[in-house]
Amino acid sequence: MVPKELVVCHLYGNLLNTYGDNGNLLMLKYLSEKMNVTYRSEIVSVYEDFDPNKYDLVFIGGGQDFEQLIISDDIQTKKEALTEYIENDGVMLAICGGFQLLGHYYMGAKGEKIHGISALDHYTLSQDNNRYIGDIVIHNEEFNETYYGFENHNGRTFLGKGERPLGNVVQGKGNNSEDGSEGVIYKNVFGSYFHGPILARNQNLGIRLIKTALEKKYGEPLVIPQEMIPVE
Ligand code: GLN
Repeated sequence: MVPKELVVCHLYGNLLNTYGDNGNLLMLKYLSEKMNVTYRSEIVSVYEDFDPNKYDLVFIGGGQDFEQLIISDDIQTKKEALTEYIENDGVMLAICGGFQLLGHYYMGAKGEKIHGISALDHYTLSQDNNRYIGDIVIHNEEFNETYYGFENHNGRTFLGKGERPLGNVVQGKGNNSEDGSEGVIYKNVFGSYFHGPILARNQNLGIRLIKTALEKKYGEPLVIPQEMIPVE
């Protein structure tokens, strides 16, 4: 068997890393090694180029409005490369602020318009003097999987063309507290408001990300050891 390697880009990892989101990388490393896959990750941040052909998986975490404003400018310089990566079925996990930045814009809590890259068709409004904070549970019917997490966001996101939710809200607020959606799936991009971090509490999603990334890279099925498959 050919030795396999998962190469991860931690996009803006030194700026977008609230509420333990970096734990997602520890989980990707842990799961990869259990599957005998070598894991490697590097941060790509402001003033650095993003190479759409270099990575098997891109992770972008959450942040507060201040960090998002800084990144909002820089990410425009990476817009073309990131869009190419996404359209080419690149695998991505985007949490909270990172999820917002992949869409058209986010209206910050002080009314500032924080531009995204419009790679995905959602937009995000703010809400006055309120945040959605608390435990959240969603269910994805397509995969028949339930995901558990903790949400903490001001933004209210509305999905657009070609986007389907990561799951339907069972408990909590989700994207906007109106339409019952939480997160997004677009091609191989998975977005969510879940902190926790999401992969620590949802190993099934972590396995799905790695499997999708490595099957795309090596063109053969990735065998998941039986003991790693979570029982619902
Ligand atoms: N600033 C954004 C919001 O409040 C994102 C927050 C986050 O990433 N936790 O909606």
